[in-house]
Amino acid sequence: MSANRKSPARLVLTSPWVIDTRELGRRPGSSRRVHRVATADHVIGLEGVIGVPAGAEVELDVLLESVVEGVLVTGTAVGPLAGECSRCLDPITDEVEVGLTELFAYPDSATDLTTDEDEVSRLVEDHLDLEPVVRDAVVLALPHVPLCAEDCAGLCTECGGKWADLGPNHRHETIDPRWAALQERFQQDPGQ
Ligand SMILES: [Zn+2]
Ligand SMILES: [Zn+2]
Repeated sequence: MSANRKSPARLVLTSPWVIDTRELGRRPGSSRRVHRVATADHVIGLEGVIGVPAGAEVELDVLLESVVEGVLVTGTAVGPLAGECSRCLDPITDEVEVGLTELFAYPDSATDLTTDEDEVSRLVEDHLDLEPVVRDAVVLALPHVPLCAEDCAGLCTECGGKWADLGPNHRHETIDPRWAALQERFQQDPGQ
């Protein structure tokens, strides 16, 4: 390793999101499958809207492949989702599965020297950190408007009750005073 390598962010080597690639070796073509469960330290997603809750277990199933520039990671991450329906505010539980494809460049590889750290991930002391990769993929996969059901009818704007519970015949007698005045006029002038 040369002295001019960029100083990379420190990795917590004991983190379940961090994978040691030393066993893989650097011979291009060698590969290793890694299957493990990692716990989300923080919400992965939008807190209070929808995401993988803090403390939830995310199942990682990835293939590490040694390539010329570094280690290519492909595979999937699967985790539980918890959130709130944006129409009726009911809790939602679901599951998210994302595909992962990420190159972790070797320090001093051509990729390392020609790209910024936020463009291409880096190996740090032969370790790679899947947490930011999974985080990015999950955030992209989350629905912008989480719904308990595609056709959730939401809440009655008058009473705040759920339409699903209120039923189609639910009505409020109170009418907007402006409409009430109009209605009276029409009732008085039926001949127009
Ligand atoms: Zn809903
Ligand atoms: Zn109502």
